Amino acid sequence: MKPAESSKATGASFTLHGAGVSGGIAIGRAHLVSTARLEVAHYEIALQDTEAEIGRFDRAIAQVYGELAALQTSIPGAPVEIKAILSLHAMLLKDANLSSVPRDLIRNRRCNAEWALVLQMDYLTSQFEEIEDPYLRERKQDIVQVVERVLKAMLGTGHAPAARSHEEELIVVAHDLSPADMILFKQHQYAGFVTDLGGVTSHTAIVARSLNIPAIVGLHHARSMIREGEVLIVDGAEGVLIVNPGEQVLAEYRERSRAIGIERQKLKRLRTARSATIDGVAVELQANIELPQDVKEVKEAGAAGIGLFRSEFLFLNRDDLPSEDEQFEAYREVADAMDGRPVTIRTLDLGADKSINGADRGGPNPALGLRAIRFCLAEPQMFQTQLRAILRASRYGKVRLLIPMLAHAHEVEQTLAAVRHAKETLDDQKVRYDQRVEIGGMIEVPAAALSLKYFVRDLDFLSIGTNDLIQYTLAIDRTDDTVAHLYDPLHPAVLQLIAQTIRSAKRAKIPVAVCGEMAGDAVMTRLLLGFGLREFSMHPAQLLAIKQQILRTRVRDAEALAARVRRTHDPAKTRALLAKLNA
Ligand code: PEP
Ligand code: MG
Repeated sequence: MKPAESSKATGASFTLHGAGVSGGIAIGRAHLVSTARLEVAHYEIALQDTEAEIGRFDRAIAQVYGELAALQTSIPGAPVEIKAILSLHAMLLKDANLSSVPRDLIRNRRCNAEWALVLQMDYLTSQFEEIEDPYLRERKQDIVQVVERVLKAMLGTGHAPAARSHEEELIVVAHDLSPADMILFKQHQYAGFVTDLGGVTSHTAIVARSLNIPAIVGLHHARSMIREGEVLIVDGAEGVLIVNPGEQVLAEYRERSRAIGIERQKLKRLRTARSATIDGVAVELQANIELPQDVKEVKEAGAAGIGLFRSEFLFLNRDDLPSEDEQFEAYREVADAMDGRPVTIRTLDLGADKSINGADRGGPNPALGLRAIRFCLAEPQMFQTQLRAILRASRYGKVRLLIPMLAHAHEVEQTLAAVRHAKETLDDQKVRYDQRVEIGGMIEVPAAALSLKYFVRDLDFLSIGTNDLIQYTLAIDRTDDTVAHLYDPLHPAVLQLIAQTIRSAKRAKIPVAVCGEMAGDAVMTRLLLGFGLREFSMHPAQLLAIKQQILRTRVRDAEALAARVRRTHDPAKTRALLAKLNA
């Protein structure tokens, strides 16, 4: 087989179109990944260190070879199939494709050992995918398993990556990435990413947006058309990917990228500005986070609080569940850091596109299956662990509980009973917590939006999850790029449900926010203000652009046009009115 290195050649220029999920422009070299290979660090080895790096690689190969040999002798009574697999793995390890080609990649391309090995693994597995015989095709799994063993052996034996990581010049190209894969990006510094699959409000895209790097999903065949090392331009706003651009195009995009950078710098001046409209109406801007480490950006953006902490991300990329203490520490860290500003912790929203390692995606139709509060109520012990952890953290700030995917009044009742139970067990153990922790519900299923009476009666606040509200109203899987063109936030049915929810909450005198992606879309800001919304929660990276839009808005004008939008059921007219509103 040819070494992966031979695929580095650059070819003709071409352009692909997908859905931009995160603005800005990235220019870099393509880095092809199969899913879940992102944990591996990518950095450049200094010329004088290459031989030492090759030594590190050789030692890991020898170690794993020794482990496999020991396993073969230590389990004498093992079934013959297991022995056959172990000897196949030992054979693969000895093959020059795995034991030698990565050495050349380290030497010639100065990749760190893990990166070189994964590059070669991706190349080999892609060769296997072309084999017709299904038995042989499946053998690519063996290569992956052997490589994973070697990667584990190298864990913790690497150099610290250079201060300016080589990753900053790499654009990840993948067929598909799960939200669990994407969250690993937070430990990396890639310039951008592009995928063949995915919708703009999938959790994969949401995490990408929180990284604030240019990204495109739904490119269909990018992974098979692009070769490792080719130069790419990612225009995340327009969803345009240019492969092997000419010098003139490159110069033009470098200029655009510089202009975007200047704009972003200017926005930073708004950090401490009061968030209010021209006519003096105060608007609360909060932030969405996935992990405690995101709080740094929340503070940099000057957010008034955290309107959505997607706690389920603490549960991904691991084989066990986080304990009560571990969860408590994570929630306390955020509560502490926010200094008394609200921290809205959403209880586990697992299911659909986010699943715990090893668990399947939850039934024949995961988005309609045992997801979010349904899953928590079906797993009372796990739910109690989380509720206790959140309640314990409530002593350290203004913690609020948010319940996802409510559809039935009895789900609210059962959740409130579960919270009462968690409080009682804490009382019994004399553990302190904030007795008045507020409990809110997400309105993201049309059934909830249409029966708000039940929800406003028993809950302290509401938060509209527009991502799911659109998905469930229009019956469009938000992760499926084949129906992405039908995912329409301006559909009259969606707008009616949002406007109605805001109005009902106001009548019931309970606070209401929007925390879906719509809250961070400046095109929608005036319309939402016109519907009466005064609380928005979004990625920290979007917050200052939304503040700028608020500072330029007169609520009275927005209300008049929003009322007209509510009265129309004609999509073309809705778009025309929105354009007028934003003029
Ligand atoms: C939503 O559905 O709009 C929401 C904020 O929740 P998530 O995107 O995590 O499903
Ligand atoms: Mg949701």
